[in-house]
Amino acid sequence: MTDEREIETELDSLGWQFDNTYGQLPELFHVSSRPVKVAAPRVAIVNQKLAAELGLNLANAKPETLAALFSGQVIPTGAQPLAQAYAGHQYAHFTMLGDGRAILLGEHRTPSGQLVDIQFKGSGPTAFSRRGDGRAALGPMLREYIISEAMAALGIPTTRSLAVVTTGEHVFRETRLQGAVLTRIAASHIRVGTFQYAAARQDELPVKQLADYTIQRHYPELNESPEIYQDFFREVLHRQARLMARWQLVGFVHGVMNTDNMSICGETIDYGPCAFMNTYKPETVFSSIDQSGRYAYVNQPAIAQWNLTRLAEALLTLFSPSEEEAIAIATKILATFPEVYTQAWLAGMRAKLGLQSSDPSDAELVQSLLSWMQSAQADFTNTFRDLSNNELPANPLFDQAEFQEWHTRWQQRLQQEYRPRDNVVKQMRSANPAVIPRNHRVEEALAAAEDQNDFSVLHRLLAVLEKPFELSPENEKYREPSPDERGYRTFCGT
Ligand code: AMP
Ligand code: MG
Repeated sequence: MTDEREIETELDSLGWQFDNTYGQLPELFHVSSRPVKVAAPRVAIVNQKLAAELGLNLANAKPETLAALFSGQVIPTGAQPLAQAYAGHQYAHFTMLGDGRAILLGEHRTPSGQLVDIQFKGSGPTAFSRRGDGRAALGPMLREYIISEAMAALGIPTTRSLAVVTTGEHVFRETRLQGAVLTRIAASHIRVGTFQYAAARQDELPVKQLADYTIQRHYPELNESPEIYQDFFREVLHRQARLMARWQLVGFVHGVMNTDNMSICGETIDYGPCAFMNTYKPETVFSSIDQSGRYAYVNQPAIAQWNLTRLAEALLTLFSPSEEEAIAIATKILATFPEVYTQAWLAGMRAKLGLQSSDPSDAELVQSLLSWMQSAQADFTNTFRDLSNNELPANPLFDQAEFQEWHTRWQQRLQQEYRPRDNVVKQMRSANPAVIPRNHRVEEALAAAEDQNDFSVLHRLLAVLEKPFELSPENEKYREPSPDERGYRTFCGT
């Protein structure tokens, strides 16, 4: 007992600034929940840098304290754990969901004043677990840790990973696996599906309450707007369009873009069967359950627009009392998506090609590079990075006539800008990552951790991914795609 008391005392001295706001929404939005007791929690990894940014001093905390904290065994003073209610279209089928294996510990105010959700994933059943066990396995939680931290280092809006602990218990999927809990940090966990859940109540009030709360939390600059809800929807659309551009520009395939996995604040959320594309192939799919390729690389922007259409449906009553007029408003805003997306994508592509000005021929210049990459089966990441040098590295692909012809046109386009070559190279190196989480490297790190309890492979990978734009002798070997990617499949792990 004294042990637990000691842990509680230490926990409360870590720098928490709880300011729980979600629990103030009406009860239909949440259910108070407690993480389950587990046999033997142990820290697998703690993100000390992120902790410091959040204003939490974990550096000197005892391992038992961190294990108790990040498995939810001891709840710090001021936290009010709850599970959130939501719905969602999963593979286009509407379902009532909710946090079935996640618990929001509370909202914490960082030293810079930002409010963040602290959420446990895999901490046991809640009122929304249906037939699920509420648990998570070590592999998928470390996978989310690696990819989310890699995305953050690439400068892409994302949830973050603060810690993973093992529970000392098994979870049963196809096989017996080590149980684990991930602590996820997010600007919030409000999803498109949260609005769908509110709208399904057949009452206008919950949607308005949720929209007002979300605007306050994520879009406070709209407060004075006379058409606040339309502007809110437009802003969500803009953030999603820009996020899709960021994904496409690095070859990120989310894998399960259900409406419950799309965050309203424009962060990448819910890393399940996601992976980075190697060879440039627009129809790339990794998820074992995505038989039809609904969530293929090339489809991601259109799926985002489809999801935003579901959001618009949920918001209709806020746009206008006349349904006809509300639909007209929603349709008009939705129709802007392709243009907003394309502009963001093209701007990103210009940066990847070292261009500062815009020219009407740029879209075609980019398209012809991509068509060549597709026919040559070139590696997406490495091709752009190889272009970011003073001279092209030796690669037989670059001897192809189609590429040479494109290269000449690109050089001519660059010359129009009269910029020193060094400058161009510098810009390109900050837009084209040298390293991404290559699938075989991720698998290698997970296998060492899961099978040998060896976390050194994971730590080396994370150190490289932390500086994706740098090239050093150490990270050179992390650039190589796996020898054979055919048939690489990812699993939800749920
Ligand atoms: P996800 O695929 O992680 O986005 O999860 C989709 C839905 O299934 C969410 O409502 C989850 O809470 C729920 N879910 C996933 N895995 C489990 C599990 N092991 N136990 C209970 N609910 C789960
Ligand atoms: Mg989800």
